[in-house]
Amino acid sequence: MLVDSHCHLDYNDFEDDFEEILARAKENGVTAMLNAGNNIGELDKQLALSEKYPFIYTAVGVHPHNAAEYENIKAQDFIAQAGHKKVVGIGECGLDYFYDYAPRDTQIRIFREQIIAAQETELPLIIHTRDADDDTIALLKEMYQQKPFSGEIHCFSSSKKLADFALSIGFYISASGILTFNKSQDIREIFADIPLERLLVETDSPFLAPIPQRGRRNEPAFVKYTAERLAQIKDIPFEKLAQITSDNFYRLFRKASDKGRYDYE
Ligand SMILES: [Zn+2]
Ligand SMILES: [Zn+2]
Repeated sequence: MLVDSHCHLDYNDFEDDFEEILARAKENGVTAMLNAGNNIGELDKQLALSEKYPFIYTAVGVHPHNAAEYENIKAQDFIAQAGHKKVVGIGECGLDYFYDYAPRDTQIRIFREQIIAAQETELPLIIHTRDADDDTIALLKEMYQQKPFSGEIHCFSSSKKLADFALSIGFYISASGILTFNKSQDIREIFADIPLERLLVETDSPFLAPIPQRGRRNEPAFVKYTAERLAQIKDIPFEKLAQITSDNFYRLFRKASDKGRYDYE
């Protein structure tokens, strides 16, 4: 059993062969997927998939890349959508200072609204952060002191300082295909120190395909390559790593019931 804890299945990349992708995921032991939200305006597309397939969960959020389109969005706009039974998290949300597609103060404001939504709904926060460690830590710390919330750093590619901070507030940390890249030795060293019970695995499909599929369109079946590499790093058998990361997923995303796992089999 494996859970792809973060992917983007409603992207056009998957339009032509969607059923084949799901079949390959199943063949490779992927029993559930979390289709993350980037753009609350397209939530209907996400919900349509989640209503059709019991093993596809989703989340409501605005990606930092899209923050400028949602200047006036409020926590209440996310909370209003969070009652759907397949919406299991808030996000992805956060700060991306690598691309800086939206002004940084706008990114921070929209991120803050989504943290408030996580506080109010008690759904976990799915955080995207790139080249923004200090501002991410500062905002999480400020908001966590007001009212605790749960969450994860998805597609982790940040510093040990950010990993340590995230762990200190009970967050989970998710490994993507980046873990398999040759240049990622520093990321592998950080993962070596993360407790097993705080690890998740993901594809972030269609992006970031792991070695040996690097450069191709990523898909949920490929989460096994990242999980294999993570099992090596943690020096445990693959099956054990797969079980632990799946259990972690269901512990963090409580609304993703066990039922989803068995519906798929
Ligand atoms: Zn992301
Ligand atoms: Zn994503």
